[in-house]
Amino acid sequence: MNIHEYQAKAVLKEFGVPVSHGKAIFKPEDAAAAAKELGGPIWVVKSQIHAGGRGKGTFKEPEAGDKGGVRLAKSVEEVETFARQMLGNTLVTVQTGPAGKQVHRLYIEDGSEIATELYVSILVDRSTSRISFVVSTEGGMDIEAVAHATPEKIITFAVDPATGIMPHHGRTLARALGLTGDLAKQAGTLTEQLYTAFVTKDMTMLEINPLVVTKDGKLRCLDAKIAFEGNSLYRHPDMVALRDLTEEDDKEIEASKYDLSYVALDGTIGCMVNGAGLAMATMDIIKLYGEEPANFLDVGGGASKEKVTAAFKIITADPNVKGILINIFGGIMKCDVLAEGVIAAVKEVGLNVPLVVRLEGTNVDKGKAIINASGLNVISADDLDDAAQKIVNAVKGAR
Ligand code: GDP
Ligand code: MN
Repeated sequence: MNIHEYQAKAVLKEFGVPVSHGKAIFKPEDAAAAAKELGGPIWVVKSQIHAGGRGKGTFKEPEAGDKGGVRLAKSVEEVETFARQMLGNTLVTVQTGPAGKQVHRLYIEDGSEIATELYVSILVDRSTSRISFVVSTEGGMDIEAVAHATPEKIITFAVDPATGIMPHHGRTLARALGLTGDLAKQAGTLTEQLYTAFVTKDMTMLEINPLVVTKDGKLRCLDAKIAFEGNSLYRHPDMVALRDLTEEDDKEIEASKYDLSYVALDGTIGCMVNGAGLAMATMDIIKLYGEEPANFLDVGGGASKEKVTAAFKIITADPNVKGILINIFGGIMKCDVLAEGVIAAVKEVGLNVPLVVRLEGTNVDKGKAIINASGLNVISADDLDDAAQKIVNAVKGAR
């Protein structure tokens, strides 16, 4: 789960992390009051969307002087003007895709005078099973581009879970960022605060880009991005409360209500599979035969008829879906339960695209009998290879 920058900064502030003063607003009418309260003389008006690259982004309805989704304002009037231009407008950045994201919230901050921009992030490194810091002197830029062009400018180090964060980690971070004297001391404190926040809140990623040195010699986090581990959210109801559903895919929200592992993709073939490995293999084989999957969907082991019905409805509601492939290897999941769920869903929402079903395993004969008796226009398949070819041909034939 992701949260907005202003929410991330509020979380970090609880741990003592230095961030600017700011106010979140939802309506342009509130911009002037927020700006006056913060005081100025410079402000930063920041679009709040769950995507980076806002500063270099562009709005769909540009106005004169449009300068991206993060702008410096020099007067209360300017803050107000920017707020009017940004709120309700759609911001396109390298991370949003061409459709962009509509801006519903703004964060207005006290502007900082920047001397240097640095990069710090913390993540779980799966190859070492440790929490790792990734730091670079090249802050404020696209870090992927830095990693590609000048990998030597990115320094990483891991924290041993047995010791937790230690003073030497802070010194390593300071050295990597070229910070000395009082700034090195501040870096030491910050390293500990960020790590503690990361572990306490069960984050999977915490990215500060940029971390800046201000002209008066202070470290400050000017941007903050946090992702939380989904499996730990039950321990953090206060973080769950920060979830912004307008940032999430409607189909994924619906799937999460039924505890379905669903990820929306942009292809044409809807997939309903049991087991994550089989779901990935199904997506691969669809691609192998020249089409693209419209989703990843694992209905899980002991899926009920209701869950299967919900899953089928989510797939058919996607207008990009031109064909559906059901691939079930029945173990705990029984083929007859699957068949009943699919038929219940089709009765409710209809079926306007070709459907290929490949069933194998527990109660396969019962499952096939239920589908055959239903009168549904189903193309049956013998194995994964056969199923993939049949759905790809059916979709291509319909074009
Ligand atoms: P992003 O483009 O989505 O990563 O948004 P950021 O919050 O990182 O802002 C983009 C850029 O705006 C930063 O890299 C800074 O150069 C600039 N910026 C953000 N806040 C301030 C500020 O308080 N003062 C100044 N001078 N520049 C800022
Ligand atoms: Mn940034």
